[in-house]
Amino acid sequence: MLYSAFPSGRGVRVKIDISSLEQEPLLFDERFTVEPERLDNEVVATPVKVRLEGEVRADGEAVTVFGRFRTEGTVACSRCLDDVQWMADEPFTVEYRWPEKTPGDDEIGLEEEDLDVSFLEGNEIDLLELAAEQILLTLPMRILCDENCAGLCPTCGANRNRTAACECPPEVDPRWLALADLKSPRSES
Ligand SMILES: [Zn+2]
Ligand SMILES: [Zn+2]
Repeated sequence: MLYSAFPSGRGVRVKIDISSLEQEPLLFDERFTVEPERLDNEVVATPVKVRLEGEVRADGEAVTVFGRFRTEGTVACSRCLDDVQWMADEPFTVEYRWPEKTPGDDEIGLEEEDLDVSFLEGNEIDLLELAAEQILLTLPMRILCDENCAGLCPTCGANRNRTAACECPPEVDPRWLALADLKSPRSES
């Protein structure tokens, strides 16, 4: 885990101490930057700005964090790897449990689709880690700079969206040619 991403002394609360959490929910509204190294995802190559806003509630068994996750950053186009602006604004709910109070996996009985369950380590909730998880959850599987992005030349790697990207002959895999025919009339022959 990388924690160096966050320079200290900037006055942002990255970790929430839940040991003193009582009946009242604890509110937070923090902005920080998540470094790409933290994300372990080749699509994100530059720091991602995040705002996490919400509240933390605890009962005897679990700590629930819910709120709103907003982000903007730059990710790589799935075809040509060019920078694409990416923004998200999503609600989130994460439940934290203490490992020792949690029954075996198959007894948890949660609707896994609805709820993201993590385990607490100590008495802190790491908002930066939560933000990194939300980025990975929200990031689309496939992002394109343009619907008609021509991608990279499979032969030389040139970006075919740029004029005169390269002079390689067209690739020969007939499956791809057939697909190209379906999508748009071929402009060259
Ligand atoms: Zn592209
Ligand atoms: Zn080429």
